[in-house]
Amino acid sequence: MGLKIVMLGGPGAGKGTQAKRMAGKYGLPHISTGDIFRANLKEGTSLGLKAKGYMESGQLVPDELTCELVANRIVQDDCGAGFILDGFPRSLPQAEEFTRLMEARGESLDVAIDIDVTDEEIVERLSSRRSCPKCGAIYNLKFGPPKQEGVCDNPECEGEALIQRKDDCEATIRERLRVYHETTEPIIAYYGDQGILKSVMGTGVTPEVVFGKIEEILSAMGA
Ligand SMILES: [Zn+2]
Repeated sequence: MGLKIVMLGGPGAGKGTQAKRMAGKYGLPHISTGDIFRANLKEGTSLGLKAKGYMESGQLVPDELTCELVANRIVQDDCGAGFILDGFPRSLPQAEEFTRLMEARGESLDVAIDIDVTDEEIVERLSSRRSCPKCGAIYNLKFGPPKQEGVCDNPECEGEALIQRKDDCEATIRERLRVYHETTEPIIAYYGDQGILKSVMGTGVTPEVVFGKIEEILSAMGA
């Protein structure tokens, strides 16, 4: 039996973290579009070169091309027992196109797991991140603060002052959330209509609790 999984959830909801743990426990490849693009560029595939052309001219890679790249990735040998998609599909047109591509191969997704975290918690989580400009270490003032307030733990950084990156400022996070609600969130209802949606409450709970709920969902599916 294959387990073909899509992870959904807003920025900072923790889908990458969960996908990584699931990959470890269930022996499934954790697939992100970033990794697919990089692999295709490295191997110089024709799809990769096409995508490169769009990226170099500052354009978005069209949905059709992105879907084709993902569809090619999930037929590779390591996906025999299934896969975990993280960060794809990103929009309703991508989700629809991906369904068509899967159907054309007589396949379908088994489950879409949505980690549901409120905007307020996401803002709180992401805006409390601080990074070291020297070594790139990331701290979270609430969940993983440095030993000494405001400076990097790494001895080689010699007390370098931590900074808040522009990506982690509240205004940037709010804008990402707005784009998420507008562009990506409609996918949740789409998979709901297909009967494969499972929602996990991620607000106010630890990543361990979220993972426990995901294990329950997958074990009910026979994993
Ligand atoms: Zn550092």
